[in-house]
Amino acid sequence: MTISIHGLAVSRGIAIGRAVIVASSRVDVAHYFVQADQVASEIERLRQARNAVAEEIVKVQQSLHELGPNDAHPELTALLDVHLMLLQDEQLTSGVKHWIVDRHYNAEWALTTQLEVIARQFDEMEDPYLRERKADLEQVVERMLRFMRGVASPVAPGEQGKPTQDSHVEVPLVLIAHDLSPADMLQFKQSVFAGFVTDVGGKTSHTAIVARSMDIPAVVGARSSSQLIQQDDWVIIDGDAGVVLVDPSPILLAEYGFKQRQGEVERERLSRLKHTPAVTLDGQKIELLANIEQPEDAAAALKAGAVGVGLFRSEFLFMGRSGKLPDEEEQYQAYRRAVEGMQGLPVTIRTVDVGADKPLDRGASRAGEDHLNPALGLRAIRWSLSEPSMFLAQLRAILRAAAHGPVHLLIPMLAHASEIRQTLVLVNRAREQLDNGGMAYGHVKLGAMIEVPAAALTIPLFLRYFDFLSIGTNDLIQYTLAIDRADEAVSHLYDPVHPAVLQLLASTIEQCRAKGKGVSVCGEMAGDVSLTRLLLGLGLRSFSMHPSQILAVKQQILRCDTTRLQAWAQSVLAAEDPAALMTD
Ligand code: PEP
Ligand code: MG
Repeated sequence: MTISIHGLAVSRGIAIGRAVIVASSRVDVAHYFVQADQVASEIERLRQARNAVAEEIVKVQQSLHELGPNDAHPELTALLDVHLMLLQDEQLTSGVKHWIVDRHYNAEWALTTQLEVIARQFDEMEDPYLRERKADLEQVVERMLRFMRGVASPVAPGEQGKPTQDSHVEVPLVLIAHDLSPADMLQFKQSVFAGFVTDVGGKTSHTAIVARSMDIPAVVGARSSSQLIQQDDWVIIDGDAGVVLVDPSPILLAEYGFKQRQGEVERERLSRLKHTPAVTLDGQKIELLANIEQPEDAAAALKAGAVGVGLFRSEFLFMGRSGKLPDEEEQYQAYRRAVEGMQGLPVTIRTVDVGADKPLDRGASRAGEDHLNPALGLRAIRWSLSEPSMFLAQLRAILRAAAHGPVHLLIPMLAHASEIRQTLVLVNRAREQLDNGGMAYGHVKLGAMIEVPAAALTIPLFLRYFDFLSIGTNDLIQYTLAIDRADEAVSHLYDPVHPAVLQLLASTIEQCRAKGKGVSVCGEMAGDVSLTRLLLGLGLRSFSMHPSQILAVKQQILRCDTTRLQAWAQSVLAAEDPAALMTD
């Protein structure tokens, strides 16, 4: 029987595939397909790992034995016996083989997949003793993984994401996890998965943002989906409606297959707009910029017809590195790649914004991640100012990259005049350091993100110090409405058209325009086609969004007349319930 699970629609489209359940603790295990002629060597790697772990266990048993009967540890001996037994367990060995032979998963992926299958069975056992054996199985698998980590794979995972040519393994796969950090998500960016579902997460959580940038269907906040869905179940992900259908009937499969094809036709149609200038019916030129997470995303930005990068979230260079941060040279090379990738179009590089739902590392405790209220803690510029040598290295790297093309430097989450002044002192110091070292660097325009209500209420201060402003609506909404953007329990209150949010947006845009300063929106609102008319009506002329959203927003723009939208936008702004007017 088909089960339907409701969550939040975060990335559009329909994905149909078999479920791959990944435990949150195992997302860092490599996932890639091996070629048919590499299957035997993958099985051999597993066999070696199993033998090595078995040998380790036997050695410990022998040393216990040598201690003599007085020092015997009967419990430990019994436990080691259990581990040996689990290691040889037929269900584990044959199951893992099945994933490698029939699906061409790499050895580590096959092992963790089968672990999930067996772990579920343990969970369902009545006998508490047997249930507890799950922990032993996990330990045994962990030891095998550790062994394999130390032994280079003969199979190059370089071709990750490309299913093998064999037709029987060309089954689309969808990833189901309890939770994924933004860094985990990034790891899956070039991967094999056609869609994602997570149990937790809000619509503008960074995990959802990365899913959207991958342009594949995703649903977050689909509570207990990772429990309800079984390994290898057929699943439909409806990224438009935020629904996940498990074990769909043939009729549903046909219906969604049709919708999927319709989506492809629509994309094809939109792609024709790539070279069309984004100009409204009344001749207003609109700037459509791209949000990127990695230098390599510049290609997608150009492909979508972006006229620059409005937000390069540099923190993705800092995440998932076990605390070893990128040094100046590594960052310079990355920013330079982005700048060169954009072929003379401007690149807005935002300084590091870790903390809150973007931890440096899973379970790490830097950047205020282990604090009670991380979103209100040492995040973004606050962290940068507390680590001046790290911040200076980043500023130097960005200034050096500016020697290769137009770069704008964007500072996240400023709220205080003192933070602005400290930041500018450090930017000047970075320039001096480069001068002293005889290093080449370029001019940058300086911008501030407006994403804290305190900033939106003191725009004149910001306009005194900065060349342009960029409104981060994701955080502006979070902080104005006191709604954690990553918490699905309050996602129904996360309202981009709340009158308070609209007031802050409208007045920021108006004040920038009055002073002739550039202003754009780089939060998720910019890429939401249902809000394009409103933002145009409020006077916005620069939008920054994921490359995948650019053409749909452009299509809206081409149909709009801003002279007509102005009065309507003012009425929305004054309304008690603006959402009711949005469909006009
Ligand atoms: C925002 O807050 O709107 C924004 C663009 O920054 P981020 O989503 O990375 O916090
Ligand atoms: Mg933000």
